[in-house]
Amino acid sequence: MTCIRFSFLVYKATNAPGLKNETRARPKPFMIRINDHYRKLQASYLFSDIAKRVNAHTSDNPDKRVIRMGIGDVTEPLPAVCREAFKAAVDEMGDRATFRGYGPEQGYPFLREAIAEHAYTARGCDIRPDEIFVSDGSKCDSANIQEIFSSQCRVAIPDPVYPVYLDTNVMAGRTGAFADGRYAGVVYLDCTPENRYVPALPEEDVDIIYLCFPNNPTGAVATRDDLKRWVDHARANNALILFDAAYEAFVQDPAIPRSIYEIEGARECAVEFRSFSKNAGFTGVRCAYTVVPGELKGVDAKGTEVPLHALWNRRHTTKFNGVAYPVQRAAAAVFSDEGKRETTRLIGHYMKNARLLREALTSWGFDCVGGDNAPYIWIQVGGSSWDFFDRLLNEAAVVCTPGAGFGTCGEGHVRLSAFNSRENVEEAIERMRPVFGR
Ligand code: PLP
Repeated sequence: MTCIRFSFLVYKATNAPGLKNETRARPKPFMIRINDHYRKLQASYLFSDIAKRVNAHTSDNPDKRVIRMGIGDVTEPLPAVCREAFKAAVDEMGDRATFRGYGPEQGYPFLREAIAEHAYTARGCDIRPDEIFVSDGSKCDSANIQEIFSSQCRVAIPDPVYPVYLDTNVMAGRTGAFADGRYAGVVYLDCTPENRYVPALPEEDVDIIYLCFPNNPTGAVATRDDLKRWVDHARANNALILFDAAYEAFVQDPAIPRSIYEIEGARECAVEFRSFSKNAGFTGVRCAYTVVPGELKGVDAKGTEVPLHALWNRRHTTKFNGVAYPVQRAAAAVFSDEGKRETTRLIGHYMKNARLLREALTSWGFDCVGGDNAPYIWIQVGGSSWDFFDRLLNEAAVVCTPGAGFGTCGEGHVRLSAFNSRENVEEAIERMRPVFGR
């Protein structure tokens, strides 16, 4: 592309409709200046590389059906109770008496109250409806939250990681350049076999700490003691924990916390993100929420304390106009008795897939985490994650996700997802058995 730098040039727009023979001045001497921080971002080749290898395999083996066990999207349909609530709300929109236009940006009271009661109060967590911000996804929320903090804040981010936390901080200019697999200025929290993928507390001083449990991609969970260590650390060091609990509904062990607010003191140091995507199949419908407790505070440049709730409220109401009313009705139906039964069944389906996969892999001698309280199984493969990916594809026509795509510490691992039909999971296990079974 050429960039013409002379603003006094005039030109004749002879091709543009309606502008024939009109003469107008060039609007600007230069092209628009971009946010240079975006230039630091590493292109994510993970899923395109997977697609390329799968396509090549399919064209060489047109008769062999590939089973995709790498995807993080759900496969089972929306619960009937959610569909009914959705449809009824659409009908309300068709009647002038019950039609709704813009709703409250933070979410309708019926949904915020249902979340507070069923997701928090019922589990002993003290969260008020007005501390809950309904949104169209945890991806957006966990990406956007960093906007309310100074670009000088130091961030601690797990490795391997759901890439949104890292990339949005790169975009905001909180990191230096990328070299040898890592961005300068980020404090990486290594999740390794030695710590069973629950990272140690950072030795450096940090302001923002991202945690995700149950974890994507590792499937690891944090115990109450683990989370207490983090909460105590954050409080003692004036740090803020951004806790992604998108997979909380998959926790089966009652001793494992599903919310950071089950830990004493978390209201003073943690924001929590939750989603209807994975527990109720809303990945295509879009509904989630973020909890910002009233106790959370930051300081401005003059040292004045500012409640984070007020800042996030300002950000949310300025940039977001609320989730569709029928979507919020569908989400609220998750908390009805029938909704609880249906989502429990849905989660049970995925968790049985996870158990079957984990049992098979373990019986073949692989060291795995996840699959017991999370829909992902993180497998130590004892070599390059891409080599293992190729072997699994070529010998079993099964697709996994190479761990190297999630960060430096992901090398030597692959992720298998339990989001699939039972038939596919059983067939994948039968195909893998002759490859890995001993
Ligand atoms: N957080 C984690 C850890 C995820 O793995 C995902 C999706 O895969 C999300 C958030 C996104 O959730 P949502 O669909 O609500 O945007």
